[in-house]
Amino acid sequence: MLTFAQLNAYDMLSNEDILQFRADFPILEETIYGKPLVYFDNGATTQKPLQVLSKIEYAYNHLNANIHRGVHYLSQKATEAHEAARSTVAEFLGAEKREEIIFTRGTTEAINLVAFSFGEAFCKEGDEIVVTVMEHHSNIVPWQMVCERKGLKLKVVPMNETGELDLQVYDSLLNERTRLVAVAHVSNVLGTVNPIRQMIEMAHSKGIRVLVDGAQAVPHIPVNVKELDADFYVFSAHKIYGPTGIGVLYGNYDVLNALPPYQGGGEMIDKVSFEKTTYNELPFRLEAGTPDYIGSTALAEALRYVSAIGLNEIAVYEHELTRYATEKLNEIEGMRIIGTSENKSAVISFLVGSIHPYDIGMLLDKMGIAVRTGHHCAQPLIDSLNIPGTVRASFAFYNTKEEVDVFIQALRKVVIMLS
Ligand code: PMP
Repeated sequence: MLTFAQLNAYDMLSNEDILQFRADFPILEETIYGKPLVYFDNGATTQKPLQVLSKIEYAYNHLNANIHRGVHYLSQKATEAHEAARSTVAEFLGAEKREEIIFTRGTTEAINLVAFSFGEAFCKEGDEIVVTVMEHHSNIVPWQMVCERKGLKLKVVPMNETGELDLQVYDSLLNERTRLVAVAHVSNVLGTVNPIRQMIEMAHSKGIRVLVDGAQAVPHIPVNVKELDADFYVFSAHKIYGPTGIGVLYGNYDVLNALPPYQGGGEMIDKVSFEKTTYNELPFRLEAGTPDYIGSTALAEALRYVSAIGLNEIAVYEHELTRYATEKLNEIEGMRIIGTSENKSAVISFLVGSIHPYDIGMLLDKMGIAVRTGHHCAQPLIDSLNIPGTVRASFAFYNTKEEVDVFIQALRKVVIMLS
């Protein structure tokens, strides 16, 4: 995996490039309360380019029929498009086999699938699951549920004051009872890019499986699941310029093949009788019901879109944007940035003096600036920091330094109003 220092070797996207890309996103032209929209809530969801929007329209207009099993022309075309999308995702993630790609409703469902099925197949009372203090609720609660169901224990890796995981404690938590580590590639609150490669190596040296929550990583940095040697890697389409309602579970073939079905229904079966049902092979065994074949086609288009720009180029550009915004934010009196790791992605969480984050977010909104406030679905992290929440600005490649300037100017006004 490239470090940010190595990424700097790549060409920076120019202002002209960015303006050209912005033209692909009609929503960026919206005005909010009469002010031009500044959309800094990309961590929650990203905007969609025309290419993805027209793919959805095209698919409904020309490729819409339920897939698999259909003998008629349209059904076969729709099936081809859906399965081609699976190959596009496999290639995007550097997976060895297309059968290693399972379509889910999103990151959350992908984690629930693994927590349930892996829990059923491989976990028994007294076993342990390791998560980290900076996980999103989606990478905590499904594990708590399996812990409750099967009598397992949840262990938590702490972090230091810059927002980096304590790898010594991590190492000490990995023992013969540990069945799986579930860790975010990039924190949605702190922006920290965790040393996933190293963490996987440490777990694998003790025969422990690792699930990586890539929701905040795939839109921002190049990811190759084979290089990482991840057992499971999950993400949501809507955070990488694709549609809502679809996401991906990558699983190493052998591990995935050992998992029992998560949900029962159509497509996941081989033969059904009232006495006994046998199951289909991968990937279908883990995809019950009519899949979101329009969504998969649109997701593939989104992946082609970002790949054409280049994930390296996106990472370098967003890194510079984050550096610039951090520098400007730090000039504001009372500024406290939460998460100051050297290895950070395009997320900045902050507090100003004793002002409540919600008040800052409300007033910024009135100036056309969309940021997120609160616990960001990471209550245990926020509680461990003993803060009420944060204001979070999260960037995409279509954001500009000019937008950062507008945001900083507005924030200065808000701070004066609320101080
Ligand atoms: N994990 C992380 C790190 C996230 O940022 C998010 C979305 N905020 C999720 C999981 C959940 O993603 P989704 O709601 O798309 O399933």
